[in-house]
Amino acid sequence: MDSKKKTHQFKTEIQQLLNLIINSLYSNKEIFLRELISNSSDAIDRLRFKAQIEPDILGDDSEYKIKIKPDGIKKTLEISDNGIGMTEDEVMENIGTIAKSGTAAFIEAMEKVKDKTILTPELIGQFGVGFYSSFIVADKVTLITRAAGSDKALKWTSMGDGSYTIEEAAKDTRGTTIILDLKKKEKDEQDFTDEWTIRNIVKQHSDFVAYPIVMDVERDESIPDKELIKDKDGKPIGETTEKVIKEETLNSMKAIWAKDKNDITDKEHEEFYKHLSHDWNAPLANLHMKFEGTTEYSALLYVPSQAPFDLFMPESKHGIHLYCKRVFIMDDCKELIPEYFRFIKGVVDAPDLNLNVSREILQQDRLVRNIRRNLVKKLFDLFNDMEKEKYEKFYQEFGQILKIGIHTDHENRKKLSDLARYQTTKSDGKLISFKEYVDNMKPDQKEIYFITGDNVTALLNSPHLEKLKEKDFEVLLMADPVDEWVVQSLTEYDGKPLKSAEKGDLDIDKIDEKKKDEFTALFGFIKSKLEEKVKEVKASSRLKDSVSCLSGEAHDNSAYMEKILKASGQKTPKIKRVLELNMEHPVVIAIKGLFEKDRDNKALKDYSELLFDTAVISEGGKLENPSRFSKMIGDLMAESIISVSD
Ligand code: ADP
Repeated sequence: MDSKKKTHQFKTEIQQLLNLIINSLYSNKEIFLRELISNSSDAIDRLRFKAQIEPDILGDDSEYKIKIKPDGIKKTLEISDNGIGMTEDEVMENIGTIAKSGTAAFIEAMEKVKDKTILTPELIGQFGVGFYSSFIVADKVTLITRAAGSDKALKWTSMGDGSYTIEEAAKDTRGTTIILDLKKKEKDEQDFTDEWTIRNIVKQHSDFVAYPIVMDVERDESIPDKELIKDKDGKPIGETTEKVIKEETLNSMKAIWAKDKNDITDKEHEEFYKHLSHDWNAPLANLHMKFEGTTEYSALLYVPSQAPFDLFMPESKHGIHLYCKRVFIMDDCKELIPEYFRFIKGVVDAPDLNLNVSREILQQDRLVRNIRRNLVKKLFDLFNDMEKEKYEKFYQEFGQILKIGIHTDHENRKKLSDLARYQTTKSDGKLISFKEYVDNMKPDQKEIYFITGDNVTALLNSPHLEKLKEKDFEVLLMADPVDEWVVQSLTEYDGKPLKSAEKGDLDIDKIDEKKKDEFTALFGFIKSKLEEKVKEVKASSRLKDSVSCLSGEAHDNSAYMEKILKASGQKTPKIKRVLELNMEHPVVIAIKGLFEKDRDNKALKDYSELLFDTAVISEGGKLENPSRFSKMIGDLMAESIISVSD
């Protein structure tokens, strides 16, 4: 068998992760046990789901359990389950080879932490190191697994030092066994082979796991009277007790969602959430509901306190587990919660659900649709009622994904827009809601102004906002790519239209038509010099101090949208923008003077280019030919300095 032993290298990111895990200090090493028990519990869940369609898969091993076996002499700890097990391909895929999405991001975050030796639960929490947390306590990890329905077992071993081996193995039963060769413990550290230590850890972190977590324990039991050997006076000779090995269940397996709301402690919520989500942090909030009547079900939902790294990755999972009368049916139940709430974790238990539902049927199931509608409503209530500070923390983590809903969920658009928050030209860095914006509107203000871009500071100082600031009209600063989609879908709030500060004309001050006529010839001339770049040159309705800016027509993509599309590799037809010039600005007035005196002056072309280039720069854009721009500026500076010093 040994001849078939194969050695593989860990993927670089995984080895980096293992190095971090191995070389870090922990305040609570015991957490590894929760991770392994959760994996076992998930493996049984998955087997159970599969057995609904293929009952034969269980064979005669249908009593699900997770077994813990400490050995104080060998200093090992074994955790085994009779769950779904893994095939060789699955072992290769799940453990060691393919880094989970977010691994790289996790390592990057870790490297940023100054004191690298302290791996805090908050940091690990964002990633969920799961199986690898074995290396917190073990210097060698062995995994023996046999997939349900297969008669082949295999053994995976690693010292966490860059490589792992895989070989065939003997295993009589289905499932997975993990054997940890425990590191030498420091003096005051917990002994993970001690019965009471294990009992306490299981009770604290894994009490509600739905399957029995068992352990063989040795107890002294009295020997039954009739079996005792007695002397002639009837007194027992020798021992009256004997050592007996008994299998004991360490967890209560209570379904916490079935309990009364007031009987669940924060600690219980926290542990149940951690078990469900594989998060290492406490949840930010929970929502516990029981519905009785025509649709009967209970739900226990959690809002995480931190967004996972993979929130926006396509393989990111939805967090709702579906149960029927406390029996697990499936995890990742997408049908129960909209995409933009996919970060919510929890359990829905619906007693009336058809046990043999398939995912396809679920979608059309009236009960499921009803539950979904209710969950969504209750979640909106939860967020609306959250105290300000807590809500801001939540929004920081999940605001972006909520805003996707504004674009995708027509029915709940208003409610979702109520959850959105923005900085504004007047909010001094704070976030405000659309409602607050509307409440602060000036009496003569008809529209909700916004501007989009990738940098709040640049937006705040954008020339497009000069007139609006003069009028003391507030402008929403939208600096998130998602906002481009928000403003496409959300055309009004509370009857007030949303209006881009950089598109179309701003209907705030009447432009002096007579004066405009005086500039018509010059603007036509400048346009002829910039034919390739702009579709129009016109008098600006938004500039006060700056000389020029670029704008779009009402239905054009914004500059930011073009940037986003370009960055995502999409080919977009280049849309020419409108060059707006400030008729009050001395430069524009002087150019007009020069133009009227000498139309053929060669400098006019350069000035036209400069008006365009400065407009690009002031909105944070990139020049096509920056070196030509610097040269022109250099020449102008030289000229003006020479004329000053002459
Ligand atoms: P996570 O559990 O967060 O997905 P892990 O690193 O803990 O991450 O595990 C990776 C994968 O390995 C799991 O998703 C699962 O597919 C598989 N796995 C881990 N432990 C077991 C087990 N006891 N039985 C079957 N599969 C397991």
